[in-house]
Amino acid sequence: MTPIVPASTTGLMTIDLGRIAANWRALRHLVSPAACAAVVKADAYGLGADRVIPALVAAGCKTFFVATAKEAALARTLAPEAELFVLDGLLPGSAQSLFACCATPILASLDEVREFASLAREADTKFAAGLQVDTGLNRLGLSPDDIAAALSDGLFEALNLVLVMSHLASADVAEDPKNAAQLEAFQAALKTFPGVRASLAASDGLLLGAPFHFDLVRPGYALYGGQASTARRAPVSDVVKVEARVLQVRDVAPGESVGYSATWRATSASRIAIIAAGYEDGLPRALSRTTDDASDSYVLFGSIRAPIVGRVSMDLITVEVTDVSPAIRRGDLATLIGGERTLEAVGHAAGTIGYELLTRLGSRFHRHYIEGTR
Ligand SMILES: *Cc1c(COP(=O)(O)O)cnc(C)c1O
Repeated sequence: MTPIVPASTTGLMTIDLGRIAANWRALRHLVSPAACAAVVKADAYGLGADRVIPALVAAGCKTFFVATAKEAALARTLAPEAELFVLDGLLPGSAQSLFACCATPILASLDEVREFASLAREADTKFAAGLQVDTGLNRLGLSPDDIAAALSDGLFEALNLVLVMSHLASADVAEDPKNAAQLEAFQAALKTFPGVRASLAASDGLLLGAPFHFDLVRPGYALYGGQASTARRAPVSDVVKVEARVLQVRDVAPGESVGYSATWRATSASRIAIIAAGYEDGLPRALSRTTDDASDSYVLFGSIRAPIVGRVSMDLITVEVTDVSPAIRRGDLATLIGGERTLEAVGHAAGTIGYELLTRLGSRFHRHYIEGTR
């Protein structure tokens, strides 16, 4: 389907809000009776929080996670009634910005717990807070020693803890023993917080089975069609298609090179399409291909593969279309992501992951929203 877009549009992201809603419902069904939140940090992974959040609210999602206070402020305008958690927690002196949008920080260090508890004491109110405990990721979260220190200082009594959470390091590899070790550490930490809601799993963790679900799961990537787990498929479908325009098609004689530093040379008469998207648009420069390079870097015209040749530059890529039929013409759209070019496949070709690819897609792409399958 080629949507109607302005003639001057060089690149196009088609985002299916109905599919995002359907993906959320499928995950909620999978984890029931646990509840299912939605992680909408980083502008809903680059797909546009202003459109994604209302679609998820309409689907019935009641709990959202963002990374920053600024993201929380936007999310609050789009989801006035929702429960809203801030994963980056409390920056020094930043509590007012969270109160202003009724967002709940996920406190993730002893310092943050101290600061929030002392504000609560001053205000003589038990502020709602989430707590992140570290179970082996060694990123954010209180250690068992930190928890003991907070307990002995009576800090938790000053707060209204509404969620205790942790985050898995290796959930994409189902058989990794680290998953069971973190599960056990999380269960041990929860003994200190009877009756408080618990959350451990993100997109991959929720595929590890019911023991990982607790009260609430926190998928992000899977809502947007991502399949990060190496072993298990999430019950979700693709959400985003990325296309860019052919600016021109040119013939290149044998021995001629294409692009910066002449890294690709035609071994026979070749047709090259110049496409209006480059690394500024989030196509990693690592997708560049030299003459003998057999790497998996290509775009699609319909179902036909056209390999990227030469360097990815700021605004352009060059692809070989010598045998593509019917002939590629100026103004045609090449599929960069979509169909067999999944986020994982393109991420892999670029030596990165689909998450990075998705969240870096640039602002030059015209975002076209559709309400497909619901
Ligand atoms: C980003 C994030 C998530 C969502 O992760 P996905 O893999 O995208 O599902 C969940 N929890 C925390 C703490 C995160 O930082």
